[in-house]
Amino acid sequence: MKTLIFDSATEDAIKICADIIKRGGLVGMPTETVYGLAANALDSEAVAGIFKAKGRPQDNPLIVHIANIDELYELAAEVPETALKLAEAFWPGPLTMILPKSDIVPREVTAGLDTVAVRMPSHSAARRLIELSGVPVAAPSANSSGLPSPTTAQHVIRDMNGKIDAILNGGDCDVGVESTVISLACKTPRILRPGGISPEDLSEVIGKVDIDPAVLSELKKDEVAASPGMKYKHYSPKAKVYIVHGNFENYKKYVESAKGENKFALCFDGEEKLLNIPALTYGHAGSSREQAHRLFNALRELDDLGADTVYARSPAMSGMGLAVYNRLLRAAAFDIIEV
Ligand code: AMP
Ligand code: MG
Repeated sequence: MKTLIFDSATEDAIKICADIIKRGGLVGMPTETVYGLAANALDSEAVAGIFKAKGRPQDNPLIVHIANIDELYELAAEVPETALKLAEAFWPGPLTMILPKSDIVPREVTAGLDTVAVRMPSHSAARRLIELSGVPVAAPSANSSGLPSPTTAQHVIRDMNGKIDAILNGGDCDVGVESTVISLACKTPRILRPGGISPEDLSEVIGKVDIDPAVLSELKKDEVAASPGMKYKHYSPKAKVYIVHGNFENYKKYVESAKGENKFALCFDGEEKLLNIPALTYGHAGSSREQAHRLFNALRELDDLGADTVYARSPAMSGMGLAVYNRLLRAAAFDIIEV
């Protein structure tokens, strides 16, 4: 398949992409979190195409993106007060809510679950594309399944060229990690995946929020994942990644003693100058927001450099740091080295 590539998200380009979605096609769509692979959420065949292009496991449900709050009432069987409070505070933006699904949502979207994930993105091109398509848009991250999520149009081109109808370049993604997924289908709202909105921000608006154990620990064999996506190895470059817990001094000692061909440090800005091993950085130690913005690109760059082993500095876990740590943990397949 020939993939149309639009170098900028002009109104004309967005119109062509909206027509593609109306006809059941697939579009690489910029959002403020990561690039999405968008299709008509109400068209099962189009949705099946998403799974095929990504090589995504069939039991991993998709997030439905909307441009207008009215669409929430069409997709969800009920909309609790908490959902409205969260929408008021964080939409449009990087928050996905899980609610009981209505009958119009095909089972392909929810992977057979009786709940649906809904988000209203803030990226203007994403909103316009959804508006012009005239339908809610199902969109997982636009990477090949298992690889780091795409935060630039170049990343999408690399993974999806020839497999989808079009790619719309809307610039680098501002947030850089996926949305926070919160379930409102349980008694106390529960974060299933940390992301662009921190647990602290959520608690300020709706009070107590639980964090699902799968956010920070590996599921045991046969344990059912509240968020099916959390059970898969994810966000991984070709290299074997380790998270190294400990202060910089101990980190330096450890990585320098482990150094060898194609082994890289992934550290914070400024630290690379103090290390006697090839290193890439992913933001300042004190800025979770910057780390989130740069992490996936750094993981992809390590592949370009031919890294086979990567020792990553461990981020702070508060605020958006929880999302950064959660992604690194999966990139590392839960391998942590204490120093
Ligand atoms: P992605 O779009 O690739 O960032 O992945 C979407 C994430 O949302 C995955 O981790 C899914 O498991 C999660 N998700 C989507 N729908 C549901 C749902 N109905 N219940 C729980 N998790 C969901
Ligand atoms: Mg994904």
